[in-house]
Amino acid sequence: MKSINPATGKTIKTYKTYSEKGVKKIINSVDKTWHHWRSTSFMYRSQLMQNLSGLLKSKKVELAQLMALEMGKVKKEGFAEVEKCAWVCDYYAQNAELFLENETIPTEAFRSFVTYQPIGTVLAVMPWNFPFWQVFRFAAPTLMAGNTAVLKHASNVPGCALAIEELFREAGFPENVFRTLLIGSNQVGNVIKHAAVKAVSLTGSTPAGKSVASIAGSELKKCVLELGGSDPYVILKDANLEDAAFKCSAARLLNAGQSCIAAKRFIVVNEVYSEFLEYFTCEMNKANFGDPFDEETTMGPMARVDLRDELHRQVLDSIKKGAEVILGGEIPLKKGAFYPPTILENIKPGMPAYDEELFGPVASVIRVDDAKEAIKVANDTEFGLGAAIFTGDLKRGENLMEIQMDAGCCFVNDFVKSDPRLPFGGIKESGYGRELASHGIKEFMNVKTVVVN
Ligand code: NAP
Repeated sequence: MKSINPATGKTIKTYKTYSEKGVKKIINSVDKTWHHWRSTSFMYRSQLMQNLSGLLKSKKVELAQLMALEMGKVKKEGFAEVEKCAWVCDYYAQNAELFLENETIPTEAFRSFVTYQPIGTVLAVMPWNFPFWQVFRFAAPTLMAGNTAVLKHASNVPGCALAIEELFREAGFPENVFRTLLIGSNQVGNVIKHAAVKAVSLTGSTPAGKSVASIAGSELKKCVLELGGSDPYVILKDANLEDAAFKCSAARLLNAGQSCIAAKRFIVVNEVYSEFLEYFTCEMNKANFGDPFDEETTMGPMARVDLRDELHRQVLDSIKKGAEVILGGEIPLKKGAFYPPTILENIKPGMPAYDEELFGPVASVIRVDDAKEAIKVANDTEFGLGAAIFTGDLKRGENLMEIQMDAGCCFVNDFVKSDPRLPFGGIKESGYGRELASHGIKEFMNVKTVVVN
């Protein structure tokens, strides 16, 4: 397993993957620890979680540098990511006990109630794009609930994977409450099949989700799947176009466009199409892409050269089928996995820019006649993660999002963001289950009914 700096192509460090025997030994230790951890108090777990939050804040610079080195995230975005991890730790430290309180349900019995009990060790299979946030949004509720966890992180961020394990140790968590497994995706099946592993949470691509879900299904183990997205951003004629263009561009370029909830398809009604496109092109053009360590840089390289080349293939294939380039669209000559902010228009079904997820800084702009057609096009995707609408009529925007948009996270006049206080997840090929809020912490619990007579 190798860490490669995507801005230079240089290998940072090589790691030895763990053997099957080594992996089994770790899982057995984590399982053993669970039998003790499950009976610790919320107060104790909460104190450790707050230690972890403090530690994250104190190591913000170091951790952001690690992300910049391993996957090209600009430092400012790295700082924000680490702060958000601290937030989710604090949030569950404060709320886990409340979310998991017993619920009394009146029946004919002397007493009947529902209690939420931990199930054991949960496997997390995680992606590289938010290498700390994706792990912490899973780990904070899972551990606060009394479960233990093993992490299989993406193969291009082993440094982040080991740093996370070390953070739990340093915060004072008992050894083996949270462990990292440095393994390839071919070893995941055996981890799921281990008797002590009771459930899986995967954040990643739809093919990875299907593969993991089929193994977990054959073992009757529960899955939470946070998969790909092709989020539609609808611009109606009464929108504040300057504000919409600014937010759409930010939502497309954050993390060099490599976010599941990035804005990917921009569906604009005819009457304001040209004006919006002008503002939007101007905003996208402002991005300063380059070395993630440079303070002036607003967008770093993509995380790997193969991912950049795949994105460019999708762009070229769309152009071959009739898409037109408004901005970017060419691989720069400089070394590294760079790709420029790119805008494509004249997008039609059958093109990758319409049908597939574009996991990089490429915007597909689609012209429609009216709001009705906009919603139809927005829903014309196999994905259903996030969606946004820009309109001056808040009531109408709210209504369209509540009733008609097929997605898990819908925003009016803003870009889609995850927030520890709100449930997060998708429908259709974007996966199932929810993370965050009170919903997320209950995913890996035994919802136990107790009746006393
Ligand atoms: P990926 O290739 O699916 O990898 C994600 C994780 O799954 C990695 O740890 C990877 O390990 C592992 N994996 C891949 N194939 C597997 C298989 N067949 N069996 C078991 N494990 C497997 O995805 P990615 O390219 O890293 O991330 C980008 C994708 O993630 C995009 O589609 C994005 O939209 C999605 N994503 C979704 C969310 C969400 O919350 N919905 C958040 C972030 C990203 P290796 O690295 O060893 O291959």
